Amino acid sequence: MQAPRLFVPGPLEAGVTVALSADQAHKLLHVLRCKAGQRVLVFNGCDGEFAACLEMTNKACAALLGARTRAQTSVPDLRLMFAPLKRQANDWLVEKATELGVAALQPVLTQRCVAERIRPDRLRLIAQASAEQCERLEIPAVQEALTLSQALHAWPRGVRLLFADEAGDCPHADWGGAAGRAPPLVGALQSLGPQPAWGLLIGPEGGFTPQERAELRALPFVVPISLGPRILRAETAAIAGLSLMQALCGDWGSPYG
Ligand code: SAH
Repeated sequence: MQAPRLFVPGPLEAGVTVALSADQAHKLLHVLRCKAGQRVLVFNGCDGEFAACLEMTNKACAALLGARTRAQTSVPDLRLMFAPLKRQANDWLVEKATELGVAALQPVLTQRCVAERIRPDRLRLIAQASAEQCERLEIPAVQEALTLSQALHAWPRGVRLLFADEAGDCPHADWGGAAGRAPPLVGALQSLGPQPAWGLLIGPEGGFTPQERAELRALPFVVPISLGPRILRAETAAIAGLSLMQALCGDWGSPYG
C-alpha cells in the first residue's frame, strides 16, 4: 500500500512529533486499518513533505517526522472563479480542480445562481483530502463567496481572467445567435502569450445574464473564450478549461507557459 499522505498545519521539522486530527486518526485506524509504526507522509503547504512514523495512544494519532522526502514547490498561479452549483457538483468541482492544480478557488454569486449557501470550510476539507490523495504539496485557497461585482472589483488588474462565455449577442436566437461569440480558448491563450498568473470564470447552470455578460466584456482584464460548439455543464466547463490552461500555460509541459 502507498504510504498515506496527511496535511498537518503548523511547522514541520525532522525529529518532531505532530498531532493528527480526529478525522485523520479515524481514517487511518478504521478505513486504512493502519498500525503503530506504519510509514506515512506529512506535508503542511510550506515546508515540503516528510516521511513519518505513526504513533498511537488510545484513539489519538500522532506522527514522528523523519527525513524530508520532497522540497516545497509551487503550483502555477491559476485561479478558478465559479458560480456555486448544487452541493454534489460543488464537491466534485473542488476535488477535481484541486487535482488539476488550481492555486485558488473563488465562489461567485451571480444573478442566476441557484445554490443557497456555500460553505468554504467544508470545501476546504474536500480540497485537503484531494491534495493528500493527488500528492500536491499545498492546499488550494478556498475563498469566502463574493458577488460577481465584488469579485471583479477585487480582481488584480494585471491578471487576465478567461471568461467562459458560450452565448452570443442576438437576443432571440438559440444560444444568442452567431454574433458576439467568444473565440476558442486555445487561440486566446496563444495570442496572450506567457502570463505570470491567470484565472478562469465559469457561470452557473443557467448561464450569465445579458447584463453580466456586458459588464464582464467591458472590463480590460477579462478575455471571453469559448469551450467549443456544445453547451457544457458548468462543472464540465471548469474541468475542460482548467485542463487546457494547465496543458498550454501551466505545469503540464506548457508550450506557451
Ligand atoms: N446558457 C446556458 C448554459 C450555461 S452552462 C443556459 O442557459 O442554460 C454553465 C456555464 O458553463 C456557462 O456560464 C459558461 O461559463 C460555461 N460553458 C458551458 N459551455 C460552454 C462553452 N461551450 N463555451 C464556453 N463556456 C461554456
